[in-house]
Amino acid sequence: MDNKTKKHIPQRSCVICRAKSSKDNLIRIVKDPENLLVVDTSKKLPGRGIYLCPDLECIEKAKKSHVPENILRASSNEIFWENLVENAKNFDENKNLKLRSILGLARKAGVLLIGSERIENSKERKILVLLANDCSEGVKNFLASHREFQSIILDISMNELSEIIGSRGGVQILGLPLNSGFAKKILSLNL
Ligand SMILES: [Zn+2]
Repeated sequence: MDNKTKKHIPQRSCVICRAKSSKDNLIRIVKDPENLLVVDTSKKLPGRGIYLCPDLECIEKAKKSHVPENILRASSNEIFWENLVENAKNFDENKNLKLRSILGLARKAGVLLIGSERIENSKERKILVLLANDCSEGVKNFLASHREFQSIILDISMNELSEIIGSRGGVQILGLPLNSGFAKKILSLNL
């Protein structure tokens, strides 16, 4: 993402791990009139809000440390923590659906580079490379020899990746020109 685009997206930090991201990638928490913590799925509830990664590790740490309660001077109940976990799972599902749709569109547009050979032979040098989580050592070595590529290891296996792009199987690595809208959209998913 270039600086121009970044300027328009205000960044928020997770109160646990301090990772910065846009509001869309974080869970907002506020307190209700009874001083109980609630998940603000609308991201628009009034009052002070804090942000948390949609990540089970951060949720667990938040629960143990009571950081959200302390910052907002509120209390929490079990329903709130269950809602948080549920919400985090929905984030993952949404990301997965978005990724699938972006890859499908990129393939239709003819810009998706499938396999290391296509990536290597592309005249593009700035490439976003996506790897299956069970890709081979050979593919990892290929990537290590191309430091100019930006890479993401997906939470997706070879079989799933093949299925997503409608291939018969064995797809371990995909590439997209970094300056394409498709690559920018994938990067904004914060996978
Ligand atoms: Zn976090």
